Amino acid sequence: MSNDWYKKTAHEIRDAVRAKKVTALEVTESHLARIEDVDGKVKAFTDVWADAARNQAKAVDARIKNGEDVGVLAGVPIGLKDVFCTKRGTTTCCSKILKGYRSPFDGTAVERLQNAGAVFLGKLNMDEFAMGSSTENSSVQITRNPWNLDCVPGGSSGGSAAAIAADECAITLGSDTGGSIRQPAACVGCVGIKPTYGRISRYGLVAFASSLDQIGPFTKDVEDTAIALNVMCGRDPKDSTSADLAVPDFTKSLKADVSGLRIGLPKEYYTDALNAEMREKIMDAVKVLERQGAKVVEVSLPHTDYAIAVYYIICTAEASANLARFDGVRYGYRAPGVGSTQELYTRTKTDGYGPEVRRRIMLGTYVLSSGYYDAYYLKAQKVRSLIRKDFTDAFEKCDVVLTPTSPTAAFKIGEKSANPLEMYLSDIYTISVNLAGIPGLSMPCGLVASGLPAGIQIMAKPFDEETILRVAYTYEQKRGFEMGTPTAVK
Ligand code: GLN
Repeated sequence: MSNDWYKKTAHEIRDAVRAKKVTALEVTESHLARIEDVDGKVKAFTDVWADAARNQAKAVDARIKNGEDVGVLAGVPIGLKDVFCTKRGTTTCCSKILKGYRSPFDGTAVERLQNAGAVFLGKLNMDEFAMGSSTENSSVQITRNPWNLDCVPGGSSGGSAAAIAADECAITLGSDTGGSIRQPAACVGCVGIKPTYGRISRYGLVAFASSLDQIGPFTKDVEDTAIALNVMCGRDPKDSTSADLAVPDFTKSLKADVSGLRIGLPKEYYTDALNAEMREKIMDAVKVLERQGAKVVEVSLPHTDYAIAVYYIICTAEASANLARFDGVRYGYRAPGVGSTQELYTRTKTDGYGPEVRRRIMLGTYVLSSGYYDAYYLKAQKVRSLIRKDFTDAFEKCDVVLTPTSPTAAFKIGEKSANPLEMYLSDIYTISVNLAGIPGLSMPCGLVASGLPAGIQIMAKPFDEETILRVAYTYEQKRGFEMGTPTAVK
């Protein structure tokens, strides 16, 4: 019996488990052994649920033995970013303020994965409250890039991305507010999608910026992305912003056919600011699609330059409101030995939050304060509408927009952590997608000279994940190379 199940995709595992070629328990053991082997270096996990995972796998095996249909993720080992509420273990957002907090419920996405036969391996590292682009803002540990342990895995879902690249899980879950699924997926060379705002219920996702946050999967291939979306998407009465729309069978989009499809290349993204190697990788990918019959058209997204500024007004404003609830009374950490209520709030928040979270709360409170609200928050909302309209106009001329995911490959640990503004620029190509509410996927398009992965981003109209998946699948089938196992975890 092969013991390298940890290398396999979710669909390979699912098919083998269903066909009784392997038990869910054997697959789980293979992943737990892999975590044991490599996670000391990678540090993707903050909590491994070994015994619970074994029990969950045994339950799947028992149902298969009874002839029951266990679902499309039968026996598939999944890891969860620590931003998802789970009854099992703790839910901390890698913040000291939530240390030890136990959620009384499972979020909807987690519940749906479980009902589809998934086995949960544990919680994954992240930037505190999903604020960051490198996973260096975690209060727990720094996750490392499996391609080069001196480099960051991107962020904020860096643990989820690294766990896929290092073959510690078959699927992981992340959240994306301004790029936190796509940018880390690009940094480690896996597939990551931020679906349309409203596609997946946010119930049980600890809120950072509610009008921007979306849940999405990290996977080893595009087929697994389609399967994970099939399981998680769809209306949920517990989240009023979840879309009341029929969910297509996304696996039907897995056709290697893009003939006649129009690829838009926005001229504002292909400027001198884009690293030359990155540009070359993206253009190689575009050529692969052109050979399959796609047509390239130039499009314009004229308000691109304002995206970062608009994002950091809106996300900090929403974060300052969302994080008000962590006050030392209701959840997690409470500062000891305080006298007054005022002192309780101040001391709890000062000790409990890291510097980036405090910075965002202060910025957000400022832009919402009377006297500044019109100048900052309201103005940002107006420009957000213009950014959204840019995409509506562009999608009159093309079916997908193709861009780099990130301006450079993964950077070194410590390289940007002293300069928040430079860190914010890591998301320059991903943030507009959240502001516009459209779907965007990142997938690997090769390695740059330093041996680190480059990522290409594919965006489409709201609720048109199907076209994204078709383009991504075509590229994956026709690109003519495999990414292979990252060098540091071979
Ligand atoms: N890096 C961005 C930020 O720090 C995006 C984070 C995210 O998508 N959660 O806000």
